[in-house]
Amino acid sequence: MRSLTFSSTLIGIEAHLVGVEVVVSNGLPGLTVVGLPDAAVSEAGARVRSALKLTGVNLPPRRMVVNLAPADLRKTGSGFDLALALGLLEAMGEIPQGILQDCLVVGELSLAGEVRGVRGVVCSLTLARRTERISRILLPACQIGELPQWSDIEVVPIENLEQAMRYCRGEVALESTPSSVMSSPKTAVSNDLRDVRGQALAKLGLEIAAAGGHHLALSGPPGCGKSLLASCLPGLLPPMTEWEVAEVAAIASVCQERTDSRVRPFRAPGNGISSAALLGGHQPGEVTRAHRGVLFLDEFPEFRRDSLEALRVVLEEGQVKISRARFRTIYPAHFTLVCAMNPCPCGRFGVAGEICICTPNQVQRYRSKLSGPLLDRFDLLVSLTRVPLVESSEVEAEESSEAVAQRVSDARKLQADRGFLNRDLRGPNLLQALGWKNQDRTFAYQLAENSRLSMRAFEKWLRVARTVADLKQAESVSRRELLIARSVRFSVDAEESLVS
Ligand SMILES: [Zn+2]
Repeated sequence: MRSLTFSSTLIGIEAHLVGVEVVVSNGLPGLTVVGLPDAAVSEAGARVRSALKLTGVNLPPRRMVVNLAPADLRKTGSGFDLALALGLLEAMGEIPQGILQDCLVVGELSLAGEVRGVRGVVCSLTLARRTERISRILLPACQIGELPQWSDIEVVPIENLEQAMRYCRGEVALESTPSSVMSSPKTAVSNDLRDVRGQALAKLGLEIAAAGGHHLALSGPPGCGKSLLASCLPGLLPPMTEWEVAEVAAIASVCQERTDSRVRPFRAPGNGISSAALLGGHQPGEVTRAHRGVLFLDEFPEFRRDSLEALRVVLEEGQVKISRARFRTIYPAHFTLVCAMNPCPCGRFGVAGEICICTPNQVQRYRSKLSGPLLDRFDLLVSLTRVPLVESSEVEAEESSEAVAQRVSDARKLQADRGFLNRDLRGPNLLQALGWKNQDRTFAYQLAENSRLSMRAFEKWLRVARTVADLKQAESVSRRELLIARSVRFSVDAEESLVS
C-alpha cells in the first residue's frame, strides 16, 4: 500500500515543498526514512511509532519505507512527524486513500501524540498559498495565533494525532477562520513622542528620519533620552502593507518569537553582540529581525569593528548573504538604522557645566572607531543636550506620535510618486528631485563653499532638505528648507572631524 502527502522544509526564511511518500510492503519489518534527512528527521521514526502506539494504532510487522522528495534537498527539523504519521496511517488503510494528496502537513509529535509547534509555520503557510496543488494546510493548533491574515486556503489546526485521524476520517470539522487569529497582545516597543519632554531639534530629526527613511545618528551625554527617542521611531513610520506584514510574520516565526507582526519591529541589541548574532547564520540575525522596522545600536562606537564594517554592506544591499559549508541563504534586511553615542568615553565632552576626564587621545580613538564609509550612510547626525529639570517638569502639551505619523505618511506618498525614498536619492536623481529655483541653487552652493562642505556632505544636506520640503508638501526645495536641514544636522565641523 502507498500514500502521498506533502510537508515542507525550511531554508533560511523560505519553506520548500517536500513530498512524503510512504510504502508499506512485505519484507523485513522496520521503518526506514530516505531522502537526505538530518538527525531530527531520522529520529521522527521513534516519535511517530510511540505516538501511534499511544493513540491506539500498532504498526504492523511489515517493511515501511518513507521517501522524502526531492531527494537532493536536505530536510531539516522535526516538522515532518505529523505528515509521516498520517502517511503511514493512510498506507495502512486506517484513513481513507487519497485524503491527504492536496494537504501540506507540518507539526512535531510528542511521544504521547500531541502536536507541537515548529519553526517557520508562517513560511509553510506562504508556501501552501502559492502552491497550486495544495488546498489545505494542517498545522499545530498552538501556532494559529502566529499567522497573518489569509483568505485563500483552508487552515486546519491540529491538537493531537487522534484528532488528525478523526479529521481525515471525516468525523470532525476543524477549519479555522482568519478572524480568529492574531489575537496576541502587542509586544513591540513603541513609545509615544508625547512622553518626550523638550528635545525639539531631536524630535524634528526623528520626524525627518521617518519621512525620508534616513539613517540617524544621535550624539549626546548619557541620560539625555537617546534610547527613548529611538524607540518612538517605529510609531512614526507608515503602516506596513499586507506583503510587508507577511514578511515580518515569516521572520518572527522562523525565530520563534511571538510578536504582533502588524507592528514594525524595533530591535536594540547590546554592544557585546557577536557578528553572527547581528548579521545571521542558520537563524536570522538582528538586522533581519529589524526588517521593515528600526535597528537601534546604543553606545555605537563600542560595537565590534568587524560587525560595523559588515553592517555597512547590509545597509547598501538591503539583505544579508549567508554562505557557509552546506548552507547558503539570503535574508532580507531593510531597516532604518538609529545609532546613539556619547560625545566621548566619559560622556561629558562639550557638556556645559561638566568636566570631561578623557585625554584628547581617548576622545580621538573613541570617535575614530566609526569608519568613514559607515558614517557616510547616516544622512542625519543630531546632537542632543540634557533637558534642564525645570523644563522637563513643565506640563506643556507635546505633539503626539499620531500627528507626526500623519505628516510622515503624506511625505512618503510624494516620494512614492517620484519612485525613490529620499535616502536613496543620489546624483542626477537628487538634483532632479529638488526642483529648486536658480536663486536657491546659488544660495546652496555658496553656503556649501563657505563652510567647505565635501560633495558627500553636500548631498546629504540636500537629501534632508528634500525630506523637509516633503513634510510640508512643498514641490520645490527653497532656502527655508535648506536652512532647516542645516540646523537639524549637527554641526558640519563635528561631522567632518568624526570622518577624518
Ligand atoms: Zn570624556
